[in-house]
Amino acid sequence: MTRTISVLTGAGISTESGIPDFRGPNGVWTRDPKAQAMFTLQNYVADPELRRRSWQTRRQHAAWSAEPNAGHRALVDLERAGRLRSLVTQNIDGLHQRAGSTDVIELHGTLYRVECLGCGTRTTMAEALERVATGEEDPPCLSCGGILKSATISFGQHLDTAVLRRAQDAARDCAEFYAVGTSLTVQPAAGLARLAARNGARLVIVNAEPTPYDDLADLVVRDPIGQVLPALLAG
Ligand code: NAD
Repeated sequence: MTRTISVLTGAGISTESGIPDFRGPNGVWTRDPKAQAMFTLQNYVADPELRRRSWQTRRQHAAWSAEPNAGHRALVDLERAGRLRSLVTQNIDGLHQRAGSTDVIELHGTLYRVECLGCGTRTTMAEALERVATGEEDPPCLSCGGILKSATISFGQHLDTAVLRRAQDAARDCAEFYAVGTSLTVQPAAGLARLAARNGARLVIVNAEPTPYDDLADLVVRDPIGQVLPALLAG
């Protein structure tokens, strides 16, 4: 069978696993708009107090105790059935991989790694959180003393161009494109939906709230992802 479906997921696919999204009704930013400042690179670099709070937030992140849900598993089934062209995610929580997806294009990086903003050295989040637990409130890079940050894309940071190119190829080269659990408000990720539609893909949006791309979609589904995605993808 041909691999015809590309999928873009967002924070909404993980809310049923207990990880809040940003812009949904119970989203982190909906409840506290000021929390957005923590995700801006310039603020992170300039403000040691914000970095200390960021490390505490990472320690307590819901991803560490979350389990994949039926939405994640539906995408594993799609891959195993040989019908998945590519899975692109904006999520940083690693739940697709934990569910069993083998090749995930992580547009916004991963919470499981840490990167030095000075020399680019990468280490594990587990190692960094161990240092935080033993009293280093803002652990510096062990190679150069620079500022460490989770290997995720903050506002003001560019996406990895090779990763973005893979995502764009996936959007261009598919018969169907599913946007699942994303408000489609963050560029360039959101633009993948238009790219797919322009190149002839059938666009399916599965999201509880309206998105700016709904008019372009062939099908819009507002029901909870875990309930509808398995049936939608069953083919
Ligand atoms: P978003 O918060 O902007 O939008 C999520 C959308 O999902 C909302 O429109 C909401 O209505 C919908 N939604 C939530 N639960 C749903 C469900 N069960 N069924 C159907 N729809 C549901 O998220 P985004 O578009 O992914 O953009 C947010 C950015 O934040 C991304 O860059 C991402 O990297 C990051 N983020 C990641 C995580 C994670 O890794 N789990 C969590 C929060 C934010």
